[in-house]
Amino acid sequence: NIRVRFAPSPTGPLHIGGVRTALYNYLFAKKHQGTFVLRIEDTDQNRFVPGAEKYIIDALDWCNIPYDEGPEKDGGFGPYKQSERKHLYKQYADQLIASGHAYYAFDSSEALTAHRKDHETKGKTFIYNWHNREKLSNSLSLSPEDVQKKINAGDEYVIRFKCPTDENLLLTDEVRGSMKIDTNVLDDKILFKSDGMPTYHLANIVDDHLMKITHVIRGEEWLPSLALHVLLYKAFDWTPPTFAHLPLILKPNGKGKLSKSDGITGGFPVFPLQWTDPKTKEIVSGYREDEYLSEAVVNMLAFLGWNPGTEQELFSLKELITDFDLTRVHKAGAKFDPKKTTWFQQQHFQLADVVLHVEQLKQLLADKNITSSLDLTTVVNLVKERAVFFKDLWNLSSFLFIAPSEYDEKATKKAWKEDTPALMHELTRIINDITDLSAENVSNIIKGWITAQEIGFGKIMMPLRIALVGSLQGPDLFEIIALIGKEETIKRIENTIE
Ligand code: GLU
Repeated sequence: NIRVRFAPSPTGPLHIGGVRTALYNYLFAKKHQGTFVLRIEDTDQNRFVPGAEKYIIDALDWCNIPYDEGPEKDGGFGPYKQSERKHLYKQYADQLIASGHAYYAFDSSEALTAHRKDHETKGKTFIYNWHNREKLSNSLSLSPEDVQKKINAGDEYVIRFKCPTDENLLLTDEVRGSMKIDTNVLDDKILFKSDGMPTYHLANIVDDHLMKITHVIRGEEWLPSLALHVLLYKAFDWTPPTFAHLPLILKPNGKGKLSKSDGITGGFPVFPLQWTDPKTKEIVSGYREDEYLSEAVVNMLAFLGWNPGTEQELFSLKELITDFDLTRVHKAGAKFDPKKTTWFQQQHFQLADVVLHVEQLKQLLADKNITSSLDLTTVVNLVKERAVFFKDLWNLSSFLFIAPSEYDEKATKKAWKEDTPALMHELTRIINDITDLSAENVSNIIKGWITAQEIGFGKIMMPLRIALVGSLQGPDLFEIIALIGKEETIKRIENTIE
């Protein structure tokens, strides 16, 4: 039974990199009828940001990739917030001490800083590991009595992992393949802190084990921790999960990791939802508020690190579940492309159910206090093709609801000739006589009349368009006439010739 988890730290809004990690976990879980777990990793109290957890959950919901198990959705492995599991971790740190895989360290931060400085002056870097454990203040260098004395006296301590010396560790990753690492270069990471809280490393491994996680799919920034994690599994004598580290998401120019400021300078969101910083009140924009469809955002994110190996680019979430495969995740950084994001939006906007467009247009009209008897489905079908966002529906169709009161000057100059008023007047009479107002019939009659008059099409069509739309833009004129009706059409033409 496949179990994966998305394990964000609630230190702020979830950027698209985080959403991508969540998405790949979701897709992998759903493909294998597995379980997608959300675990909130909030052991670092200093970095806790109120509202971040809700933001994470809302973002997953908006993307339509809800978790199966997690806060408020207990699947028998809860609680799913590490701060609520606090009591669990100490015993595991103790277990490692008892088995000789971890030790107490009493070094004050001042002492460590001094060591670091001392090393620097000698042109070396200070690493807390086999090199110098013996010279520092810990249970490997002190007598058991002294250690007990210090603990009894309430001296502050941390628990460090005793990284094995002279081992050649083989790491395997679904995306990166095999890697060898010499354990001598690793440091003795802190597992448990003086504030009584576990560090990320300990809590993460303990929880993945207790929650029976089978696959750890996460960002490449955690690759450097993989060796320690594998060593921890060994030390506990637990079977490690399968690991897959997802490639970095790069700036549009490919130089470095995508960051929040790239979004600000580039004018595109890098967050799924809008976020208001609780301290500074600064607002960062989000895809949802910018009217992107979540399907488009999900499709775009799916391609940031994966491809189906075919020409197909447009995917629904369902299709992604079927086609997604960890073996097709690449290790090269994935360049974020805002233009491609807009392309995905445009495509999914066209694919969306027309009911959705109609609903949005209805809302836009209500916001503007416009009541209309026009058939909104017809309106949408008429203008949708050129729309990318919902707001475009209004921009492209407003002339249907409100007769133009101003006319594009340049267009008028081009279209309006001396004989135009007379021709337009004649046209109103032709239109008035039409009984079947279907676009096709209107087109036949008006085109027939133009041909019979032996005048150029532009002579009629251009001023007519200006009269109905206000400019030389817009959808098919005959469709417009069929939609707004005879009376309105005639009124608009008359407005221009009177
Ligand atoms: N809490 C870590 C994060 O914020 C989780 C890393 C992992 O998935 O192991 O990304």
